[in-house]
Amino acid sequence: MNISPGASRVEKGTHTMSVEIFDGHDSAHNDEAYLGWVADHPEGYIVNTNATINPAYMVLHRCWCEDVTDKQRYEIGAYTQRHYAKVCAESQEELREWVKKYGRPDGSFTGRECRCLRRTQ
Ligand SMILES: [Zn+2]
Repeated sequence: MNISPGASRVEKGTHTMSVEIFDGHDSAHNDEAYLGWVADHPEGYIVNTNATINPAYMVLHRCWCEDVTDKQRYEIGAYTQRHYAKVCAESQEELREWVKKYGRPDGSFTGRECRCLRRTQ
């Protein structure tokens, strides 16, 4: 069961698929760029995966989730430049399509659903 408060908002037709992967490989994809994307997309979604994309670890979060966006909690670099990468999109559906391409053909995410998916900002 996936009841997403954002699902009904997905635009159809004119919406172009845009998934951004922040994996620290250059300055346009480091923590600063990632946190900038999050700030620009307050309604967006994030998949946390390993630095080497790992279908066994693909956890979904909302952009307001402190687990993946709190600047105080982690040193700069921890989100995208060491052990983890972040995959970002405006809709959960785009991320489902993305995980399907990267080793999870059923389009599911891993782990227990984060609490951020069960509350509105
Ligand atoms: Zn979360």
